[in-house]
Amino acid sequence: MILVSACLCGQRCRYDGKTKENKALMSRLGQQAILPVCPEELGGLPTPRPACRLVGGDGADVLAGRARLVDETGADRTAAFLKGAHRTLELARSHGVRRCFLKAKSPSCGSKQLALQGVLPEGYRPVLGVTAALLLANGFPVEEIP
Ligand code: SF4
Repeated sequence: MILVSACLCGQRCRYDGKTKENKALMSRLGQQAILPVCPEELGGLPTPRPACRLVGGDGADVLAGRARLVDETGADRTAAFLKGAHRTLELARSHGVRRCFLKAKSPSCGSKQLALQGVLPEGYRPVLGVTAALLLANGFPVEEIP
């Protein structure tokens, strides 16, 4: 089973209610079984929702209790992001996920993998999100999709 950020699969789950469907990725994955997951919706956040940003560190720092997530209205959304990350990890384990393809630039799904590989697509901003940090810390291979 392949875990994929749901917005890359065509689901309208982004903060702005839009999708980031990636037909090239879908075609690359072909007939492989896909598990579409949106950690922010799994954490209980609505769609659309105010955009959130990391404050005080990255996703690994959030997991360690050293940073948090704040939305455009100033509300603290850390608990929802942590809930979504842990629910995603549970799903990955229970579905026997072998690889993850996660959307870049997201405070949930960004994984900095492109930056680590020295690949810097136009408009790319390296962000390590909470869910990506948790999946990586638990040994799941993550590929970052711009
Ligand atoms: S990047 Fe991740 S959290 Fe954001 S909309 Fe896509 S699947 Fe959901």
